[in-house]
Amino acid sequence: MISGFTMPSYSKIDLHTHSNKSDGELSPYDLVTKASDKGIQMLALTDHDTVSGLGDAKKAAVKKNINLINGVELSTQWDNKTIHIVGLNIEAENTLLIKACKKLKALRKERAKKIGQKLSKIGIIGAYEYTKKVAVNGNITRFHFAQFLIEQKYAENQADVFKKFLVKNKPGYISVNWPNLNETINLVNSIGGIAVIAHPLRYKITATKLRKLIDEFKQCGGKAIEVITGRNISKEVAVASNYTKKYNLAASIGSDFHNESISWNRLGELPLLPENLVPVWELWEKNN
Ligand code: AMP
Ligand code: MN
Ligand code: MN
Ligand code: MN
Repeated sequence: MISGFTMPSYSKIDLHTHSNKSDGELSPYDLVTKASDKGIQMLALTDHDTVSGLGDAKKAAVKKNINLINGVELSTQWDNKTIHIVGLNIEAENTLLIKACKKLKALRKERAKKIGQKLSKIGIIGAYEYTKKVAVNGNITRFHFAQFLIEQKYAENQADVFKKFLVKNKPGYISVNWPNLNETINLVNSIGGIAVIAHPLRYKITATKLRKLIDEFKQCGGKAIEVITGRNISKEVAVASNYTKKYNLAASIGSDFHNESISWNRLGELPLLPENLVPVWELWEKNN
């Protein structure tokens, strides 16, 4: 640490949230306002494959005097699996990033059309049209399809949808060839950001594979993993903490907030990071 620099102390931080620029409910402005009203001191907006909400989020952040970190949640491919990389403290106006997001948006649109076609083959009509309407920025995710399937009573809730539809070997599943992990980490690094493995324990891979992922992530220049996420139970926090120590990575914290009706990822309602870990924000604050 730079001598004479005292790290500010934060008690309420949320570095993984979604607005309606991807699959969240609130506008970027309303999300930041709500975060501030909830006493959050540092917030990252991390929409899926887009930074288009950061401008409006900044306006609210200035008004509410909250520390807004520019973020994005990028879809990547590793070992035939989709892995989400959160980029934090990025330079949002960067042309390379905007170009990458444009490509990701096109991949999403193409997949959404195919999901719609697949669902219509089993008699579920109108899904693509619905998602096109509700995804106001055009970044259609499986979350939007899940909303449709719940509204149309094909499933009871999100968990039920992702058991019956939209996942491998179930109706409505389409695989996407997302950009690879290495390319994505390089992009985040090249725009001054910190690459973070999002929700590391949610990928349905073996512990051996996860270690391989973290190892490669680190070798490619990744810097942190999410230790606290919305759904974490204490056992998972301990497992993720051990990975950060083993691989000498920083630790991040984020709810993955989408909307109020999902109870497991409420905005900013998270336990504190374990004290013996390096908090991810130290990586940018000590350079200020
Ligand atoms: P996509 O990036 O289009 O593949 O969609 C991923 C999004 O779908 C996630 O960000 C969540 O919003 C949602 N999602 C995926 N899996 C689940 C799950 N098992 N339960 C609830 N939501 C999920
Ligand atoms: Mn989502
Ligand atoms: Mn994710
Ligand atoms: Mn997310």
